[in-house]
Amino acid sequence: MVSIPHRFKFKTVNMPPTPQEVDERFDAHAYVRAIKTHQKPAMKDYKLKKLNILFVTAFHLLALYGLFTKLTVAKWQTYAWTIFMINLSGLGVSAGIHRYWSHRSYKAKLPLKIFLTACYMLAGQLKIIHWVRDHRVHHKYSETEADPHDTRRGLFFAHLGWFMCEKSPQVSEKGRQLDLSDVLNDPVAAFHDKHFELLRLFFCYILPSDIPVYFWAEDAWVAFLANCVRYVWVLNITWSINSFAHRMGPKPYDRELMPSENQYVSLVALGEGWHNYHHVFPYDYRSSEMNHFLNPTKKFIELMARIGLAYDLRTPSDDLVRKRVLRTGDGSHETWGTVAGVPVLADCSERGY
Ligand SMILES: [Zn+2]
Ligand SMILES: [Zn+2]
Repeated sequence: MVSIPHRFKFKTVNMPPTPQEVDERFDAHAYVRAIKTHQKPAMKDYKLKKLNILFVTAFHLLALYGLFTKLTVAKWQTYAWTIFMINLSGLGVSAGIHRYWSHRSYKAKLPLKIFLTACYMLAGQLKIIHWVRDHRVHHKYSETEADPHDTRRGLFFAHLGWFMCEKSPQVSEKGRQLDLSDVLNDPVAAFHDKHFELLRLFFCYILPSDIPVYFWAEDAWVAFLANCVRYVWVLNITWSINSFAHRMGPKPYDRELMPSENQYVSLVALGEGWHNYHHVFPYDYRSSEMNHFLNPTKKFIELMARIGLAYDLRTPSDDLVRKRVLRTGDGSHETWGTVAGVPVLADCSERGY
């Protein structure tokens, strides 16, 4: 009999699952087979991007050095500023480039669009058009050769290995086929694209490092290293959605997908770790149907809607979610868990679901 990891254990109401049901359900996880059977390319087949490797290594070393040496002598205002900037740049990634630009899960008025773009630039990541293209390809071709950070190639590749090497021809080809006209025709994205290097230099490197020096006379080297810590932290949190949230956690919405519900990633990524749900309903501005407190991005978008800066917030109906859970979930949904497609809650119809 297969030994079942804790996250696959069933909810039982009247009777426990039979050993055969356990085996069937465990085998049904396509992602387990995908990882076991996928032939990773040999190391020599990866075309390394030496500049990216140098860049990412240097910033990680600076961040580690700063974290364990200079930050111990930083002023309290610098700590507060760093945490504030982490959240602001995180918001630029979650509410901005992800839920707004990539998925169009809500509409934003110009001031909000500009604010989110500025926050996103603090994070110092790719051009909007490139981030959106890669992310849409990721959703459309998850866990295939055309997925920019194909999780089947291992945790390291999904996390940051992909950033260190050239894209596979399939990723480039599928990216070229996507419709990105919504971004190409957006004046804010066009402005960002035109002045990308200058804006990134200012928002990601100069502004966060200079404010502490100017306003509370922080040592310039300490302020610079604190910003390196922030920058590297936000990069890793963004990457953790592609790595940890694609490998670890239950799959209440679709057991055949690798993306999982990962509360730890949600905790640090402003609610972006509810990734099984997100891959099933990517257009939902909440990225989770549950009213988790670990989803501050949802609260932020709702606040923006309340003050009139966001509108047309998109969500699937509860009935659609329920049907999907019953049809393809792995049984871990707290209300509608199933065993091999059969509702565990035998009385669910009586309960009005
Ligand atoms: Zn994903
Ligand atoms: Zn997404």
